Amino acid sequence: MTDPITAPSHPLRLGVSACLLGRPVRYDGQLRSFPSVISLLTQPLELVEICPEWELGLGVPRAAIDLHYRRDGSIEVVRRDPPKPLTECFARWWHHRQAAFVQAPLDGLILKARSPSCDPSGRVPVLLAPPGTTAPGVFFAAYRDAFPHTPSITEEGIADERTRDAFMAEARQRWRHRVGMAPPA
Ligand code: SF4
Repeated sequence: MTDPITAPSHPLRLGVSACLLGRPVRYDGQLRSFPSVISLLTQPLELVEICPEWELGLGVPRAAIDLHYRRDGSIEVVRRDPPKPLTECFARWWHHRQAAFVQAPLDGLILKARSPSCDPSGRVPVLLAPPGTTAPGVFFAAYRDAFPHTPSITEEGIADERTRDAFMAEARQRWRHRVGMAPPA
């Protein structure tokens, strides 16, 4: 009997930072390969590539972006050189991207660690904030607010067998819920 999770019409669907797949979208235009990201995942998958900064139209190469602390406690996204606030730009992009994720939900996210856009681990330094303040990337933060039950992992987590297995178990649970095989988690 065909395992429905591997059936071509219903693959597990994972969002992935495009640079982790070797796409030339990094701010510095440099290619970096992360071969373990996909090769360690053994089952058939549908991968949804995401690069918030490229999709925003920031170009390649582009100035790096930073997260800045605001007096009201929120986070401002700022292009570094020349400085330019990008928070509203991100919000507009997210408004449209979120609608696409509602139409085609993801079962999990594999995202680049320490990226001010993508990081899911909360380790991005926040400038102008009390020393040691860190936050997740702005895309991940928006995604988590909208879809709080979607599991996430970094490329570092994928390289660790136990962390990877735990992530995939959670992603499979989300998949079962999405295709109607289990109650909500
Ligand atoms: S970390 Fe995210 S925003 Fe940066 S290049 Fe990779 S996919 Fe794009």
